[in-house]
Amino acid sequence: MSDDADVIVVGAGLAGLVATFELAKAGRRVVVVEQENEANLGGQAHWSQGGLLLVDSPEQRRLRIKDSPESALSDWLDSARFDRDREDRWARAWAEAYVHFAADDKRGYLHRLGLRLMPNVGWPERGLGTATGPGNSVPRFHYTWGAGPEVVRIFREPVLEAADRGLVTFKHRHRVDEIVVEGGAAVGVRGAVLEPSDEPRGVPSSRTEVGAFDLRAQAVLVAAGGMGGNHDLVRAHWPTDRLGPYPESILTGVPAHVDGRMLGITENAGGSVVNLDRMWHYSEGLRNHSPVWPRHTVHFLPGPSALWLDATGRRLPPPLYPGHSALESLRHVVLSGHSHSWLIMSQSVLDKEFDLAGSDQNPDVTGKNCALLALRVKKSLTKPVRDFIEHGEDIVVRRTLPALVDAMNAITPEAPLDFARVAYETAARDRQVLNAYSKDFQLMSLHNARQYTVERLMRTARPHRLLDPVHGPLYGIRMNLFTRKTLGGVQTTLDSQVVRPDGRAFDGLYAAGEAAGFGGGGVHGYHALEGSFLGGCIFSGRSAGRAIDQGLA
Ligand SMILES: Cc1cc2nc3c(=O)[nH]c(=O)nc-3n(C[C@H](O)[C@H](O)[C@H](O)COP(=O)(O)OP(=O)(O)OC[C@H]3O[C@@H](n4cnc5c(N)ncnc54)[C@H](O)[C@@H]3O)c2cc1C
Repeated sequence: MSDDADVIVVGAGLAGLVATFELAKAGRRVVVVEQENEANLGGQAHWSQGGLLLVDSPEQRRLRIKDSPESALSDWLDSARFDRDREDRWARAWAEAYVHFAADDKRGYLHRLGLRLMPNVGWPERGLGTATGPGNSVPRFHYTWGAGPEVVRIFREPVLEAADRGLVTFKHRHRVDEIVVEGGAAVGVRGAVLEPSDEPRGVPSSRTEVGAFDLRAQAVLVAAGGMGGNHDLVRAHWPTDRLGPYPESILTGVPAHVDGRMLGITENAGGSVVNLDRMWHYSEGLRNHSPVWPRHTVHFLPGPSALWLDATGRRLPPPLYPGHSALESLRHVVLSGHSHSWLIMSQSVLDKEFDLAGSDQNPDVTGKNCALLALRVKKSLTKPVRDFIEHGEDIVVRRTLPALVDAMNAITPEAPLDFARVAYETAARDRQVLNAYSKDFQLMSLHNARQYTVERLMRTARPHRLLDPVHGPLYGIRMNLFTRKTLGGVQTTLDSQVVRPDGRAFDGLYAAGEAAGFGGGGVHGYHALEGSFLGGCIFSGRSAGRAIDQGLA
């Protein structure tokens, strides 16, 4: 039986596109098999903020940030806390290689393809207050000018050109159900042709089968993403020992196509799938007022000033403040026995600190529109923020604290806040603002953040009493738990070649992107530093493309 191409790539997300780009550049014939329609090209990366972790970049140096590969690797390893012999064998090697990529060739590789960065560098995941603990010692989150769609564009355009030249063939609405293995090597894929769909990007599509297909090639790359859109799988792998019981309600931060099916299919074919109990979800979700996919939730990125309360009105303990530790905050909320928590902020805080993740929520950056960007000096002027305030079901605004708490309780009548507790926490916090120093760790963290120019100018309100009427009405914002990333996945060598459970390399089978735990079966270990997911897709997709090319006859 003759081959249909040199290589089959399963998944037309970022990892699949990067690998296809590399293979086409090397003159290889590629078939890209994708269960969704053309409108979904680029997968999750399209929706992303385009945030990229870089180390010791020109942008950081311009802002006088002193970073180094040693510091970044130390942060990475303290966050990852690799502790498994077999499952972490390749992940550790990937972590080291990835940090060097982020310090060395990542920026240049993307720059040569036309990607440009914004001058401000963000600082997510500041950690738990210890130098040896998880988190970013310094700001490393670089924003792509053009956001996620631009990250996709720089690979999509050359791949579509290669398709015009006949090197790349897209098989949309083809869902892989099996990896064909002969003589111990992957030689193709089989699956179902799904009925045509003209749904817009991100909208769940029909799973009605209208045919079958069988494709053969010398190598198969699994670039099919993680499992964040599949709540059954998330629940099955949920690490109760680390994150507490599976929450009663958890919303969804990814499209439904992030279904995790290929993980089981790869395992059935004989590949090693590891660390699926390591996940990266968030507790700061706002229900989308205009949902595209079921339970569509937008990642709210509050700045450092707001008061964070659990569902009953108790303040989260130090150092669980906005921007410090996604997973520890999530764990705390889960252990509170509720699926939501609350933020209280003043108008001044909202105007400076209300950010939303995602390309759809940042039309100024996504559309490269400087006029819109200028509105960010006051975030309540921007349309996405106004839309959430006017149409979102999680936000209320009132002049006084009693009225605010009443309105918050109307959102969650099943879990009313204790007004006395909220008043006590708010007043206590406000007393600590009177001096430039205080015993309150959150305010110390806020003062620390303001030492960094970008945070002072763009991301933090001048410290003030939340209850001071000069700072405008008060906002109560319900934040919901939602799923996002899969940190584990298919275990691979540094060449993105799949390994078997006994450690032997799997001939002809490769994996990249979120399906491979962003490299090696879990390059992040237990905790991520943020901005490393797109980069993980780029690095592992590139490694896969180059290694497959080298290995082909
Ligand atoms: C809103 C949002 C914001 C984000 N922001 C950032 C950010 O700023 N920085 C960052 O680093 N990361 C960010 N991420 C994460 C990042 O975008 C993803 O981890 C990454 O894009 C995953 O790419 P991928 O190619 O591995 O998988 P995907 O994008 O999920 O693509 C996989 C493709 O495979 C297809 N597929 C799956 N199974 C099959 C099958 N059986 N047969 C055929 N096709 C199949 C799917 O339909 C899909 O198109 C964000 C994610 C979201 C959703």
